[in-house]
Amino acid sequence: MQILTLGNELLRQKADKVNKIDTDLTKTIQQMFTILKDGKGVGLAGPQIGLLKRIFVVSIADDIPRVFINPVIIETSTETLKYEEGCLSIPGVWADVIRPKQITVQALNEKGRPFTLEAGGILARVILHEYDHLEGKLFIDRLSEAKQKRIFAKFDKKAKA
Ligand code: ZN
Repeated sequence: MQILTLGNELLRQKADKVNKIDTDLTKTIQQMFTILKDGKGVGLAGPQIGLLKRIFVVSIADDIPRVFINPVIIETSTETLKYEEGCLSIPGVWADVIRPKQITVQALNEKGRPFTLEAGGILARVILHEYDHLEGKLFIDRLSEAKQKRIFAKFDKKAKA
């Protein structure tokens, strides 16, 4: 299992709902956490490993590892926060992104049980970033055109090196 990087078309497609939480998916979830740990990341979404399903995993310091299946962001605060983001699919690129400070999300956990979570801080940030992946969006889409150009130039250079 490999992490797809910027330029791969699968990262730009909208993911489908998960219909069944079976042993295959359970195995995939475990692998996703392994990839996340190896990559020293905080979140990983299905499309990043070529799985076009609405699922992502989050693992941040001082919190339990969390699985979100078929997540829906039901509330976002009008108050926003600027914070530096990176992405395992866009290695070496970091940029400030403005996002809602607080969110409420509903999803199924790895056992298929529904839960509602109010999140703020880093957790809200990571959930919104990962949710974007399910919509075929990347964090760099939220930056100015000039910034995006600089990132693409830098990334191309890296890819060629
Ligand atoms: Zn990402």
